[in-house]
Parts: sequence; structure tokens; C-alpha cells
Amino acid sequence: MFKRTQEFGKQPTEVRETGHYQHEYVHDFVERWDDLIDWDGRAASEGSFFIDVLRNYGCKSVIDAATGTGFHSVQLLKAGFEVASVDGSPQMLAKAFDNARDRGMILSTVHSDWRWMSRDVVGRYDAIICLGNSFTHIFNEHDRRRTLAEFYSMLKHDGILILDQRNYDALLEGKSKPGHKYYYCGEGVSAAPEHIDEGLARFRYEFSDDGSTYHLNMFPLRRAYVQDLMHQVGFQSVSTYGDFQSSYREEDPDFFIHVAEKA
Ligand code: SAM
Repeated sequence: MFKRTQEFGKQPTEVRETGHYQHEYVHDFVERWDDLIDWDGRAASEGSFFIDVLRNYGCKSVIDAATGTGFHSVQLLKAGFEVASVDGSPQMLAKAFDNARDRGMILSTVHSDWRWMSRDVVGRYDAIICLGNSFTHIFNEHDRRRTLAEFYSMLKHDGILILDQRNYDALLEGKSKPGHKYYYCGEGVSAAPEHIDEGLARFRYEFSDDGSTYHLNMFPLRRAYVQDLMHQVGFQSVSTYGDFQSSYREEDPDFFIHVAEKA
């Protein structure tokens, strides 16, 4: 039976643990996740960015490492890619499977944590995507290195990793503009940082129809740090886009998207 409510204990800002995502994506929050991200709005704002990058590199097989409710897996299947849909949350995978089935597609799902993903996913792929500010769930450097090394090992020799993150530099330095959209939010949902320090970004998600609120505790990744780690685990080059553009002022984008090449 899936858990329905989140538990952060007495001191929520002290919860800084990689495995805690399992307790954050509880049944009721997962059921509301698609109100939060709004598939149509998101498809419009992303356009064909990810599909274009994947095609430019000649990719055919893709691991969606952070499947969530299945948005990117479905877009990629529709575009003709071969997709393995991985996530460490069984609730998320169940929801993704239903979402895809409702759109006439069958997802090939694998329940796995990134830190030991190569045990569960067979073969090597042209690309891995880890999107929707997911890598931020990892709270210590050892787990980040381990995850990136797992991703690296599961790519073919010329494979690519596409990983995005919120622009935490702007948030940490107080340079986020008022009114910045913090996610591709649907109607009637607000998402805002409730606490930020160098070790924690705690976001609050509020649904206006029933007043329900949920939280996610995340690690505020700095852009240069992530680029550096990618190089350190062996990626040869890393290009970083800001809100899908190749040129930008550092504090402007909401999201950075790193495209890391293995060869
Ligand atoms: N990519 C989806 C999107 O953009 O809507 C989902 C994003 S959601 C913020 C993060 C996802 O990453 C969740 O589904 C969560 O279960 C998964 N996740 C977080 N840490 C993980 C880990 N260590 N291993 C596997 N999955 C993880």
C-alpha cells in the first residue's frame, strides 16, 4: 500500500538525505503532480528542444532516469525513440504507466535507484535524460559521483547525458527575480522556496482548490559544481543551456540544462 502523507518529522529543515525522496513522493502528492507540471504548458514551453538534441547526436535508445509521471518518456516514445523508463519511486512509475496507457502507449518501466542502476537496467544506451530538477534530490557528493558514474557506464562510447537543474545560484544569491516561475506550474498551484541555505532548498507546493500542501527537500546545486563533477567522472565536454538558450546572463534562467558528451 502506498503512503498517503509526507513525513518530515519535527525538524523538516534537518532532513537532508538522498534516500528521502521515497518518502516525499507519496500517493496523494503523486496524484497531484500533473496539476503541478501541466503537460500541455510544459510541452509548449519545451518545444522540441530535447528531441532536437537527441536527434542531432543520432540517439535512438534513451533511458529516462527520472521518469516521474512519465512526461518525457511519453514525448520520446511518440517521437519514435526506444525508451527505458526508470525511477526509484514505485508510486511515480505506477502513475507514469497509467498516464502512458491513457495515451495509447506502453511504458517499459524499471524500478531502480540511480546509485545502483546498472544492476537493474541491462545494456548500453545512446542517451540518458535526468530532467525536471531531479538530480537535486541527492544530498551528498559521494552519491552524486556514484550516480554520474552509473550514468556514464550505461552509455555507449559516444553517448550523451542530458541533466537539468534549477538555477540555484540565483536563488542562493538572492538574484531570483520576483515572479519567476519556479516550475512549469499549472493553474491553481503555487510552488515557492520556503527555506534556502547552502545545504538545503525546501520548496512548498500548494494547491488552491483544497488547500493541500506538500514539500520537497532538495540540495541547491550550483551550476559550475555540477559541470565540474561531470568532467571529473569522465564526460569529455559539457554544454550548458539556460532555459533552452545557448546564450544567457547567469542570473536570468530558471533552469540550466547540461548536455554532457562521453566521447
Ligand atoms: N522527470 C520528471 C518530471 O520532470 O516531471 C520527474 C521529476 S521529480 C522532481 C524527480 C523524480 O526523480 C521522482 O520521480 C523521484 O522518484 C526520482 N528520484 C529522485 N531520486 C532518485 C534516485 N536516487 N534514484 C531514482 N529515482 C530518483
